[in-house]
Amino acid sequence: DTDIPADHPRHDSLVTRHRIEAGVEAGITSRQGLIAEGRGEAFDYLLGERTLPSADAAARAAAAHLLLARHPVVSVNGNAAALVPDELVALADAVGADLEVNLFNRTDERMRAIATHLREHGAGEVKGLDADARVPGLDHARARVDADGIADADVVLVPLEDGDRAAALSDLGKVELVIDLNPLSRSAQVADVPVVDNILRAVPNVTAHARELANADRPELERIAAEFDAATALDDAERAIRAGEL
Ligand code: ATP
Ligand code: MG
Repeated sequence: DTDIPADHPRHDSLVTRHRIEAGVEAGITSRQGLIAEGRGEAFDYLLGERTLPSADAAARAAAAHLLLARHPVVSVNGNAAALVPDELVALADAVGADLEVNLFNRTDERMRAIATHLREHGAGEVKGLDADARVPGLDHARARVDADGIADADVVLVPLEDGDRAAALSDLGKVELVIDLNPLSRSAQVADVPVVDNILRAVPNVTAHARELANADRPELERIAAEFDAATALDDAERAIRAGEL
C-alpha cells in the first residue's frame, strides 16, 4: 500500500481497503470484516478523512484513562490487526496494556493467526487464546475472554467492537474506550470515551497523547479524563458529518 501518494484525496480509504484485503487473504480478517470496513469507509468519507478536534480530545481522554488504569487491555479483532498491528503494539507498550485477541466470528485458526501476526509485529504476550472467562449477557461464543485479560481489566480499549459486546462490557462497569467512525453506532453510544476517527489515525494519536502525558501526575490525568464529555463529542461528530465541509 506504499504506492498510494500521501496527498491522494482518498488516501486513508485506499490504504485501509488494501490492508483489509490483505488481512482476508492472510486469514486474519473475516469476510464480515470487509463489510464493517465498507461501513467505516463511508463515515470517513463524510468526515473528510480528518481527525476532528473533538476526536483528538477523545484520544487524549482515552490516553489518560489508559495511564490511570490498574489493568488496561487493548482488545484486537481481525480488522484492527490487519490495519494497525505495529501501532497497537506501540500503544500497548506506551501505556503498559495487555493485548487480547477478541473475535466476533471466533475460530481457533483465526485467533492463532492474529496472535502470531501481532507477535511478528513486536508484541510480547498476546492474550485471548485461553478464553477461560465469560462476559455475562452474551451468548457462549461471543462471551469468551481471558480471566487474566479482559475479565480482570478496569479499562478496555475496543476498536471497532460490535454493539452487543460493547454494551455487555460497559455493563460490567469497566471504563470502555471505543474507536468507531460511526457516531450513531451502538458501540460509540455506550462508550465512556468514543473516539470517532479512523483506527489508522486514532491509535497513533492515543499513543502520542500517552507519551506526552507519561510524566503527568494522577490529578492531572484525572482532570483530563473527567473533562471529556462523550455526548458532546458524539454530537460534534454528527454535526460535522451533516455539515459536510469536505
Ligand atoms: P452497532 O454498533 O450499531 O451494533 P455494528 O457493530 O453491527 O453496529 P459493524 O458494521 O459490525 O456495526 O461494525 C463496524 C463498525 O466499525 C462500524 O460502526 C464502522 O463505522 C466502524 N469502522 C469500520 N472500519 C473502521 C475504521 N477503519 N476505523 C474506525 N471505525 C471503523
Ligand atoms: Mg458498532
